[in-house]
Amino acid sequence: MRSGFLDRRPERIAIRAARLFDGHGPGYLLDPLVLVEGGRVVEAGSGLEPPPGVEVVDLLGLTLLPGLVDSHVHLALNATDEAVDHVTHADEAALLVSMRAAAARTLAAGVTTVRDLGDRDYLSLRLREETAADPTAGPTILASGPPLTTPGGHCWFLGGETSGVDGVRAAVRERAERGADVVKVMATGGGITAGSAMHERQYGRAELRAAAEEAHRLGLPITAHAHSPEGIADVVAAGFDGIEHCTFYAEDGVRADEGLVRELAERGIAVSLTLGALPGGPPLTPEQAKQLPAFVAGLHMMREAGVTLVCGSDSGIFAVKPHGGLAHSVAAMVDMAGLTPLDALRSATSVAARACGVGERKGRVAAGFDADLIGVEGDPLADPAALLDVRAVFRAGRPVALDEQDARGRGQAGGGTDKP
Ligand SMILES: [Zn+2]
Repeated sequence: MRSGFLDRRPERIAIRAARLFDGHGPGYLLDPLVLVEGGRVVEAGSGLEPPPGVEVVDLLGLTLLPGLVDSHVHLALNATDEAVDHVTHADEAALLVSMRAAAARTLAAGVTTVRDLGDRDYLSLRLREETAADPTAGPTILASGPPLTTPGGHCWFLGGETSGVDGVRAAVRERAERGADVVKVMATGGGITAGSAMHERQYGRAELRAAAEEAHRLGLPITAHAHSPEGIADVVAAGFDGIEHCTFYAEDGVRADEGLVRELAERGIAVSLTLGALPGGPPLTPEQAKQLPAFVAGLHMMREAGVTLVCGSDSGIFAVKPHGGLAHSVAAMVDMAGLTPLDALRSATSVAARACGVGERKGRVAAGFDADLIGVEGDPLADPAALLDVRAVFRAGRPVALDEQDARGRGQAGGGTDKP
């Protein structure tokens, strides 16, 4: 993009491209013009003429889409295989430096909104203020602060240890007082914490119910990290709004439960699948390979039952989960969960925005929505891999300078593993 334009920051611009996917569908709008004023979309349509005197940005040959919405990231984890060590031991200043870099990288990859589901010391809330003040510094951030977890439980090192009905209620209140956008609870164990197992429940139903009641009383949505069928059932019974991962990993292997899947669909619980990783990571362990068919069958069972499936990345937890790596998760929604490319794109735009509580202003290109827009090379409705080739990013109507090196590096392999 021309640097002069980046410097001038006109209040009103008209963006032209080859075609537009508006975040909902059913297909492309050809020869679109999107009129932006004061950071919002004023009008978007085919064959419109730019009003006189308005600066026109021609994204010749590109496909225009809403900026992507990642429902599950960890800005405080630095996307190396030592991410847990880093977040546990880095001082606050060093952590903020790496978080700002993660936010910038995320935005450059075309992800204009993230929901951070686990930081340390509420630092993602501080970053939220920074990227709100300067939209070109990073995505819009919705943040949970440290997730609630049991003493010594999954991700205890983020500082959210609490137990008992009263403890859990107080922890939810603290998050509301600090201005969190969402409450996150570790309902089962997880892969990245030593001594924690995915199939183990962490809280009893009374504690989970208390957490959900307190969050809803304070006007906050609540989502749970849950892997095992028992943990998922507990969270559903407690009245949570969302479930992260939802792998159905039991002690003896993956066991997707049809009755439970039906309930997820009927209750409209948003399931954020954190599939996908950079290609070229280490191969699956023999146990993971053995469980893969049952895991994939569970994904298909949820899709066929009409469960709201949302695309998230879990960016930051490993080297193969880079910040801004959501395009790989969109591809996995197609390759593993069996979504059509159209539904996969919706799951990372309009559907994700609704699941994150910002469906009225994010995830669509339409009048009144925030002017968070990306231009990509190729045909993402035919092949979501086109999302890896982001050529233009606008946040709140402001063009974001893209680093060519950074863009090229995103499609390449790193080290590490892809464990949920
Ligand atoms: Zn996570």
